[in-house]
Amino acid sequence: MFDIKSIFSSDGVLSRHITGFRTRSQQMEMAQAIADTIAQHQVLVAEAGTGTGKTLAYLVPTLLAGGKVIISTGTKTLQDQLFKRDIPNVRAALKVPVTIALLKGRANYICHYHLERSLQDTHMSFINREEIHYLQQIESYAHISKNGDKSGLSEVPENAAIWQQVTSTRDSCLGSECPSYKKCFVMEARKQASQADVVVVNHHLFFADVMLRDEGLSELLPACNTVIFDEAHQLPETASLFFGESISTSQLLDLARDSKVEAIQSAGDFEGLPDAIAAMEKAARDLRLTIAEENTRFSLAVITQNTNFSIALDNLLEKLIVLTQLLESQAERSEGLENCWQRANNHSLLIKRWRDEAETQGYVRWIEVYNQALQLNATPLSIAEIFQRQMASSLRAWIFTSATLSVKNNFTHYTDEMGLSGAQTACWESPFNFAEQALLYVPIGMPEPHHKTYTDYVVQAALPVLRASRGRAFFLCTSLRAMQRVYELLLSVEQFDFPLLLQGQGSRSYMLERFRELDNAILIGSQSFWEGVDVRGEALSLVIIDKLPFAPPDDPVLSARIEKINHEGRNAFMEYQLPRAVINLKQGAGRLIRDEGDRGVLMICDPRLITKAYGKQIWQSLPPMRRTRELTEVEHFFKAATVNNREE
Ligand code: SF4
Repeated sequence: MFDIKSIFSSDGVLSRHITGFRTRSQQMEMAQAIADTIAQHQVLVAEAGTGTGKTLAYLVPTLLAGGKVIISTGTKTLQDQLFKRDIPNVRAALKVPVTIALLKGRANYICHYHLERSLQDTHMSFINREEIHYLQQIESYAHISKNGDKSGLSEVPENAAIWQQVTSTRDSCLGSECPSYKKCFVMEARKQASQADVVVVNHHLFFADVMLRDEGLSELLPACNTVIFDEAHQLPETASLFFGESISTSQLLDLARDSKVEAIQSAGDFEGLPDAIAAMEKAARDLRLTIAEENTRFSLAVITQNTNFSIALDNLLEKLIVLTQLLESQAERSEGLENCWQRANNHSLLIKRWRDEAETQGYVRWIEVYNQALQLNATPLSIAEIFQRQMASSLRAWIFTSATLSVKNNFTHYTDEMGLSGAQTACWESPFNFAEQALLYVPIGMPEPHHKTYTDYVVQAALPVLRASRGRAFFLCTSLRAMQRVYELLLSVEQFDFPLLLQGQGSRSYMLERFRELDNAILIGSQSFWEGVDVRGEALSLVIIDKLPFAPPDDPVLSARIEKINHEGRNAFMEYQLPRAVINLKQGAGRLIRDEGDRGVLMICDPRLITKAYGKQIWQSLPPMRRTRELTEVEHFFKAATVNNREE
């Protein structure tokens, strides 16, 4: 057994090899707990406050223990950071000969088969001149690239529509039947992952492919003796997504597009197919058009009252069944047509199940409407049992870690939701001195959050604080509407010269870069900036939160889950809604203090923090900041910070 204490000590290997390393007792304890968990093949749920250094705390014991490891992260940024920087650094420091692979979802790799198909499609009806140019660049890149990862071709924007034509989906991949199988980038990435000691994935890939055993990844999980989830607070959401079933109109449009190309290339003499494809494509578009709203969710009960929707869904299914039959009759003519037939068949089964099955116990059916597409979903009311079953398949260690998993050091809501009964839980406080570094301010005189001009009150209360902080603030809102209103109100304030940045004016990384450069900006955002954002130093000295982040109770999945819990005689608000809001709030608040030298004010405008009995539980779950309701104290805090900085 290796000696964690000596490795993490002030004269240990980490101190000698890792730039900026400092011994922290919390980190050392966490590393020891993880070492024990791995040795005993147990389950550990570990919260580590900001600055604990949880990445090193799990990497060191994991690399030393050996065996195959999967590390899953919430974001691609953290995935890249682990693969390119953290794991190689720790490997070099510990001198352990482990191999590492980075595995992304298949949409990140160029697909030779679909690239060929797009290049051969002389009609090119679906792409414009710019995309033709992109297509040529992708073709050249596919010849020279070693891994086919689209992030290596920065000339083609990440969100360019052409990527959809030249990458595969689980549906459209021909697998071992594919003529390009031997040189396939996706298969090569998977082969490397199956041979590596440490595989870095993200939660979406883990649930979609590793846990649900997509073809080619079936050996990854069984071979592995440790699984680590970083940013594990995101798992309930991701697991719900993948343990359910869904089918969207965009999948049907993709099917129509691929069927057209395949029909032209392999069944040009079969006349019925183009009409059947066009009819199904139109029916899919018509279904989307039955709902005027966008970015909205509807429960089954609500949506089935819309007769146009029900008629359009029946019509789509009818046209899809006709297309399926025609594709079946031609399937033998090529692998591509065979694949289209299989997809059409699966899609029609999914739609039929969604439409016809009674609201089965344990699943909630609902739809989500986007700008261009509509998705039918069936989501499990509880993921606990499904996840438990997946975990039980063989003996290994499971580690769930994040800065935000508990409510006042209580993990019950998380372990219950994920089905982790019997797991060890542990909490390591941040090493930062929050009482010195941060102030929690809850303004006096705020109306209840449902007040119709609540956001106007928020801005009024925030103005003197923003002046005292000289901008340098994140203004985090719980809805897009409130975010827009805050922006308009701040724009109209006279003699208020701080630059305003509004979420959506550019990519998230661009907005953060601007924010850092400007040094006195106010960034107004909603969900995108609540987590995964790291601005150190003075540029971010104030975080304002408009309301406690309770999820909207009319969300179909949430309301079905609430109903289920209450029906069981439990209290859904205390057991489910409140813990989720606390975790969200801790994420938002966590943007403020990122370093030992950071100082700042967290302003939470919602009066329920004080007036409601549960408010105490919320602020007691936040880091131990000094608290005040006095504006003068906030102004004094910022003045003191300025003086301190000048003296330094
Ligand atoms: S195997 Fe699948 S991903 Fe690979 S080239 Fe063929 S279709 Fe594309």
